[in-house]
Amino acid sequence: MRAIRVHQFGDPSMLTVEEVPTLEPGAGQVQVRVHAVGVNPVDTYIRSGRYGVLPALPYIPGSDGAGTISALGADVTRWKVGDRVFFHGTALGRAYGAAAEFTVHDEDKLFSLPANVGFAEGAALGVPYATAYRALFQRAVARPGEIVLVHGASGGVGIAALQLARWKGLRVIGTAGTPQGLDLVRANGAHFAISHKEALYLDQIKAAADQGRGPDIILEMLANVNLDQDLDIIAPGGRIVVIGNRGRIEIDPRKIMSRDAAVLGLTLWNATQAELAGIYQDLVGGLESGVLVPVIGQEWPFAEAARAHDAVMTPGAYGKVVLLP
Ligand code: NAP
Repeated sequence: MRAIRVHQFGDPSMLTVEEVPTLEPGAGQVQVRVHAVGVNPVDTYIRSGRYGVLPALPYIPGSDGAGTISALGADVTRWKVGDRVFFHGTALGRAYGAAAEFTVHDEDKLFSLPANVGFAEGAALGVPYATAYRALFQRAVARPGEIVLVHGASGGVGIAALQLARWKGLRVIGTAGTPQGLDLVRANGAHFAISHKEALYLDQIKAAADQGRGPDIILEMLANVNLDQDLDIIAPGGRIVVIGNRGRIEIDPRKIMSRDAAVLGLTLWNATQAELAGIYQDLVGGLESGVLVPVIGQEWPFAEAARAHDAVMTPGAYGKVVLLP
């Protein structure tokens, strides 16, 4: 089978397309013919070698994908050949990621891809939608009627957060850095779309959030830039969930204290299988009913994997970047 492989950590040119032995399912496992692979920022951190947990070399990158079941191992009862599925992670660990023509999965770690959802959209679910869901409902414990600021709403996690927040009855403010990104944020349910490139944008957020009280929840995509300022605008009793961070920042803890605020971390790897299964089951309901609609900004063939990795790290996010085998 063809797969993308990395033999040495480094820049995007380390991504090569090669022939590797096709993976066969063992007992209780299924083989998936992959139709689309989601590219997440973490894939680029791992490829560069600058991430806490690294796979052994060589490895096949990517965690998220969607496709059809192509073979069943012994004793598989839940699936049949041809079923449409999406997944986050494979049965063979981090050395065998999603960016291959075939992947192998434990049968209970696949989820049905509804007929109204395309494969590229299915590949956009794994990390982004689960992260947004976990941030909103498991970390911040969002309640209907609360105000959420999605600080960085034009990318994979941000779009998911906008749709999920609207679905569950929150008031939503989203930021982006380009006019196209702001249009996308509005189109995906934000009551207010505000540019994080404008000098006084934090004042605009405060004004939009209950006339100055501030957001109850902030989902933060770039904490090393924004966390101290988030503490200036968060509402009393508010919760800030740190999702993305690319460096260090100095903050004034007094601001947390004076507002009875909470700063919460989130790493999706820390979610248990039971928590992830619950999240993905709920997402399937939202997909079937059409309230969750992943946005695909760019599609690249495997041979252009380097361009896909560049794209996901380029400012001016617009939904998801996916790879097609
Ligand atoms: P993405 O698709 O590249 O989107 C990045 C978002 O950040 C865009 O909306 C971008 O807006 C925005 N942004 C850029 N500069 C910003 C600023 N100064 N203030 C606020 N937002 C800004 O990435 P993603 O997949 O959504 O992931 C977002 C971040 O979360 C990444 O750092 C990723 O590594 C991290 N993440 C963490 C976890 C976890 O488990 N903790 C899981 C998933 C993702 P513009 O481009 O329009 O400026």
